[in-house]
Amino acid sequence: RGAFVVVGASLAGLRAVEAARAEGYQGRIVLIGAEPHLPYDRPPLSKDYLLAGAAPDFLSTETELREVLDVDLRLSSTATALNADDRTVTVDGAEIPYGKLLIATGATPRRLPQLAPLSGVHELRTLDDAQRVRKEISAGCRVVVIGAGFIGAETASSAKHLGADVVLLEAAEAPLVRALGETVGSAASALHERNGVRLVLSARVEGFVGQDAVRGVRLAGGEVLPADVVVVGVGVAPATKWLEGSGVELHPRDGGIQCDAMLRTSVPDVYAAGDVVHWPNAIMDSVMRLENWTNAAGMGGHAARNALWPETEVPYSTVPYFWSDWYGQRLQFVGTADADHVEFVSGDPKADRWVALYRHAGRLVGAAALNEPRRIMKYRRMIGERLQWEEALTRFPPDPPGRI
Ligand code: FAD
Repeated sequence: RGAFVVVGASLAGLRAVEAARAEGYQGRIVLIGAEPHLPYDRPPLSKDYLLAGAAPDFLSTETELREVLDVDLRLSSTATALNADDRTVTVDGAEIPYGKLLIATGATPRRLPQLAPLSGVHELRTLDDAQRVRKEISAGCRVVVIGAGFIGAETASSAKHLGADVVLLEAAEAPLVRALGETVGSAASALHERNGVRLVLSARVEGFVGQDAVRGVRLAGGEVLPADVVVVGVGVAPATKWLEGSGVELHPRDGGIQCDAMLRTSVPDVYAAGDVVHWPNAIMDSVMRLENWTNAAGMGGHAARNALWPETEVPYSTVPYFWSDWYGQRLQFVGTADADHVEFVSGDPKADRWVALYRHAGRLVGAAALNEPRRIMKYRRMIGERLQWEEALTRFPPDPPGRI
């Protein structure tokens, strides 16, 4: 039947090969990864790894992968083309034939066109990136973080904890609008100022100051923010350049892979999973692409099962969930922020514990919480049950007026 070939040796790819073996797949498995490392966890890279100098969080070992799971593991190997007619993937100039192919190539950081590469300027997506950033940030150094999304916020928080002087720049009028909506994004971002990080909104970055190494960041209007280290976190784009012209249908806006509910791409026997995928998520009535750990882990195994046992295939759907840790606080979100009404139902949005709910067309569709881990999981279940708003409020009554 040909090998099960997985391109992308990170979370979704690893979960795919683990699921294949766990479900009894006996055929050959090839796992191809561009990075030189065994699969590792990315979330700690901007948290414990930066903060505490913790060891990288590997998700498997060489022995487990090669011997126990019997995987033909190709690290430092980049897929450059997919030939759907021949059913092969080109890797380092050689053709690897597949019976079933799973694409889990994730995403890579977006670049700002006005920012030429310069020493001291970093992205934060890979272990190698994190090693570079960690080496340069120390007490007293001046760090400018461009982009107040989750990676930017976590990096600012870790740098502050390490004793750096940190400025966080955001191009929008409020941070995290797409992920959390304006009200909750602003409540979350108030954490920065409370923890001594200057947050500059509507910031227009014009370029860097410095010849060999960065010395500062120049804003429109002329202000120069002195910087020894700059971390750019302005979002990611699906890693699909290598699929152009392959027949795999890509999203016209961001180049992500268009899948159906079974996680099939437009090319027969080719599936996809993780940050790279757009798919119709039935439980949320919407086509989405998620960039979070829980989805990548769940989707990887699901896509592998559908690919290898199509006779028992099941649509993939999930109530999105992610977390982010800043300044020792845990922010969590479930569902979608695409809502017509948002309301704080518990705690104080100006303090370090609160819950906000999102309503759309009369239904509970999302919940955000700071330091309320048990409660957020209850809302995740309620969203999965497609609960009406009033019913959700009855199950978990809001704090009395005046206490919020
Ligand atoms: P990726 O992890 O991006 O892996 C894709 C792999 O494919 C990469 O190793 C890449 O090198 C490889 N690849 C790409 N192209 C090719 C090619 N052509 N050939 C071969 N290999 C290729 N999520 C949360 O929910 N909570 C968090 O707190 C959180 N924190 C994060 C912190 C950081 C710093 C980062 C970067 C991410 C964080 N995430 C978090 C997001 C989460 O880590 C991702 O959603 C998850 O890693 C996605 O997994 P993936 O396997 O789809 O893709």
